[in-house]
This record gives sequence, structure tokens and C-alpha cells, in this order.
Amino acid sequence: MLATMRTKIIGGNWKMNTDRAGAAALSAAVAGAVKGVAGVETAVFPPFPYLLPVAEALKGSGVLLGAQDVYHAEKGAFTGEVSVGMLKDCGVGIVLAGHSERRHVMGEGDDLVNLKVRAALHGGLSVVLCVGETLHQRQVEETNHVNEKHVRLGLRTVTPEELRRVVIAYEPVWAIGTGKTATPDDAQEAHAHIRAVVGDMFGKEAAGALRIQYGGSVTAANARSLMGMPDVDGALVGGASLKADEFGAIVAAAG
Ligand code: PEP
Repeated sequence: MLATMRTKIIGGNWKMNTDRAGAAALSAAVAGAVKGVAGVETAVFPPFPYLLPVAEALKGSGVLLGAQDVYHAEKGAFTGEVSVGMLKDCGVGIVLAGHSERRHVMGEGDDLVNLKVRAALHGGLSVVLCVGETLHQRQVEETNHVNEKHVRLGLRTVTPEELRRVVIAYEPVWAIGTGKTATPDDAQEAHAHIRAVVGDMFGKEAAGALRIQYGGSVTAANARSLMGMPDVDGALVGGASLKADEFGAIVAAAG
């Protein structure tokens, strides 16, 4: 399948930022900023407490409401966790799984990430599975190995039908929030390897249809060159997604 058949997807991960009024204002501004851009899918991932006001502000805009995390159990004694059903009840359509801050700050491993991926897909949500190597792993040339492990374990027992609702975000840990970005060539190399791994798991056609975002200090200034690479199908944006103009410019660069 040709790369041109993959609709680019840009996500704005707000992390633990904004407040209630700011989240509503930012989402309204994002909706306005991406209004005229055709052929690009856009999603924002606000903090849990602001999902409802953001859902309200995004109504009719076409911008997808996303969540930064989810727990795999349906309900019960899991203090502090949020289920797939609760997210859907708030209008969420897509969820991050295995973001590097969950893996490296909260200590989530591939098995838990896989449970979350499967629960979200089973419940009808789309999933952005985040993968990527640390600086040390890059220095000892383990980038492809780490990405392959994250992909194989993260997507374990996912069905080919469910894979259609999966996006992979390649986010080298050393590039997240640091102002350092992978070069377009380095991003392309990692994306091509990830696509080959998915091809081995699900077949060439499914891998050709899979969207792989790049994440790690994406800005309006570097978005075009990164997304110009054949296997880069969009971006997962942290810091720059907190400014509607900048985020809108990244979405425009994908359009
Ligand atoms: C992220 O949070 O997924 C991210 C890539 O952050 P930043 O763009 O700030 O590096």
C-alpha cells in the first residue's frame, strides 16, 4: 500500500498542564486553528479532569478527544484509575498507551501496556501505542531492538481487525521535551523498521496501512521535514501543542 493512502494524524499531548478554563480555551483555539486544514486527522489529549469541558469546546470541530492513559479493568477496586467505559462516557475516541513518561516515570512495562492496548481496542477505542529508545539505548545501538520489543509485546494478541484502530508513535525518549529532535533520516529509519516488524506480525498490507507518528520536540519549524519522510505519518506533539497557533501550524504542515 502506498504511503500516500495514509491520512496523517497529529496529536496534542497536553500532559499535566492547563487548568479548567485554560483547557477549554485551548481546545476552542485548536478547533479554530485547524478548521481550514483538510485531509489531516487531529486529536488532543487533555488531563482527565478536563475531558468534559474539552469535549464541549470541540463539539462539531472534527478534532478527536483523546485520553493520556487508561486502565484495563472494567471497574472495581483500582483507586486512581480510569476505565475504557468511563473514557467513552466522556466522549473519548482515542487513548495513548505506553507513553514514555508512563514507562519511565511511573514504571509501566510492556505487559501492562499490552493489557491497556487490548482493553481499549476491545472497548472500541483507537489507540496510540508509544514506543522509543532512551539515550543510552541509542548510544549502544539498541534502537531497533527496543522498538521491536515495544511493538511485539504491545500488540501481542491484537487482531488484524483491531490493528486498523492502532497508531504507533515513535518517540525517542531523549527527544521528548528536550528540544532535541531525531533527524528526518533517523526517524525514517526507525519508522521503516517498526513498519517491517508490524509487517512480520500482521502482513505487508496491514503494515502498509498502519500510521506511525513521530514524537519528540516537534515544532512548526521542524514538522514539515519530519513528515516529509515516506514512513512518517504524522506527529505526537507535547510542548508545542499547548500553543494553538503553533499546533495549528504543525497540522497545516501535515495537510
Ligand atoms: C510527547 O509528550 O509525546 C512529546 C513528544 O513531547 P514534546 O513534543 O514536548 O517533546
